[in-house]
Amino acid sequence: MAILYNTASRRRQFLQLAAHLGGWATASAATLSLPRSVWSQTDTPRRFQTNPFSLGVASGSPTHDSVVLWTRLVESDLDSRSVAVRWEVSDNDKFSRTGIVQSGFQLATADLGHSVHVEVQNLQPDRWYFYRFMVGDAVSSVGKTRTFPKAGAAVDKLKIAYASCQRWEAGYFTAYKHMLAEKPDAVLFLGDYIYEYPGNPVSAVRLPSATSSLGFVLTLDDYRSRYAQYKSDADLQAMHAACPWLLTWDDHEVQNDYAGLTGGDSGIADIFSNPADFAMRRAAAYQAYYENMPIRASTLTKSLAGLASGAEMRNELRIYQRVDIGQLASFYMLDTRQYRDRQACSKDGKLGSSVVNPAKCADWLDPKRTLLGAQQEAWLSAEFTAAKQRGATWNVMAQSTLFGSRDNNPGKEQGFFNDGWDGYAPARSRLTDALQKNAVSNPVMLGGDVHENWVGYLKADYSQTAAAQASAAIGVEFCGTSITSSASSAAVQKTPERLAENPHFVFADAKRRGYGVVEFTAKQLTTTLRAVDDVRAKTTMASTLAQFVVPAGRAVIERG
Ligand code: FE
Ligand code: CA
Repeated sequence: MAILYNTASRRRQFLQLAAHLGGWATASAATLSLPRSVWSQTDTPRRFQTNPFSLGVASGSPTHDSVVLWTRLVESDLDSRSVAVRWEVSDNDKFSRTGIVQSGFQLATADLGHSVHVEVQNLQPDRWYFYRFMVGDAVSSVGKTRTFPKAGAAVDKLKIAYASCQRWEAGYFTAYKHMLAEKPDAVLFLGDYIYEYPGNPVSAVRLPSATSSLGFVLTLDDYRSRYAQYKSDADLQAMHAACPWLLTWDDHEVQNDYAGLTGGDSGIADIFSNPADFAMRRAAAYQAYYENMPIRASTLTKSLAGLASGAEMRNELRIYQRVDIGQLASFYMLDTRQYRDRQACSKDGKLGSSVVNPAKCADWLDPKRTLLGAQQEAWLSAEFTAAKQRGATWNVMAQSTLFGSRDNNPGKEQGFFNDGWDGYAPARSRLTDALQKNAVSNPVMLGGDVHENWVGYLKADYSQTAAAQASAAIGVEFCGTSITSSASSAAVQKTPERLAENPHFVFADAKRRGYGVVEFTAKQLTTTLRAVDDVRAKTTMASTLAQFVVPAGRAVIERG
């Protein structure tokens, strides 16, 4: 079954797309914005049988003067047609003539799944706006978004929510209903937005509406429909419409446990182990990710430009970036999947992840192995060097997984998960060394992936020697639980022992699903872990699991 993808035709498709984008692009070469006259040239239907905006609206990657607006048209009548979509940004939710501050047309093409990415420029700093889309007689729901304060501006406070791991079959996304009520300024999504697994009709809490969506996702069309399924969720849509999102991904946006251009363990007999097939699958997954997320159009055009110039087919989609919130915080959105080396010492030499005893793994401490990739590592290190000059109080690294060392086998032979930072310990040390060398102020690590809440200290040395354990903390870590995806019952049972075994952590909970909220001020940060009662119920209550306060200037975690 190695004929799933045809490299040559796929490459041709990419090049056509690049030419297409080039043809329409404006001076910035990064958008599909259109002059008004194009309206009459496109084949835009006037009437729609069903709502083409049924996947909702979203916004993302705000700066002090710009933000990305997103939607994706789904209507079978569109077929291969290109459609001009009108967008409006307004001061108020009535979109009155005097309230509209900017508007325009954007082209939605079949090549890009009829997605729309508008990079609105020249907005006022630190302001909320409303936006909507129109095509023919259809009008989208209204979204709310904001810009951040200017570089160097003093900021009273900023409230972000962080979330990860939303497996559809594991339950309802009710956590977002509770998140919405807390009115965050932005959402940080830290990976596993979709799961590529087939749904199991026996164990699923809920099934997708179309049974065709139950299988593995392999092709561009498969990934598109999996996103459409997830985005049909009303709570998720409402949260996207409420504020901008900053996003990174983990493995399941492509395949469980993949590493760079090496596939993970698909759970089915080796039909996807051909490296060329995996590269094609990853390219399809990355394109679908772009089409469905409020990320900048330039992320795609840059990767297409690389291809069009004859570069080897790397299919890079560069999503790592820095986002500033005035003088208050810098967020480093990191990509821990696209550039990483393979996991070390997985069982029997298989693809994917394992729990490993480092003493029995020659590659464990190989300094050549990398999680972020050489380029991203160099970029991050340069960012840290420049951090002092920018002078932000908080330096927040948002990435997909647990950072601190965690032995999962208390009282037995050591066992570390080789898919997280533990499996790339020298790379982890390079990151903490760079934080220390540049005296980066108030480092905060946010993560997901493990479907459990872990709160603790960033350490320069995570080894279990008495000296390492007594050494000073250099920052704090909040690794969040999942929106729905489950933790194993063994993990729940062994939580107290696992916490005791790894004393740089101060809190752990594997039982509850939910999200975190961090409120930053110049004086302190306050993190609140919110947990829903039952993801299996359509309506459920949420409560506070724990709260932590970290004063600026000292890596100390106090219970709130
Ligand atoms: Fe996950
Ligand atoms: Ca995984």
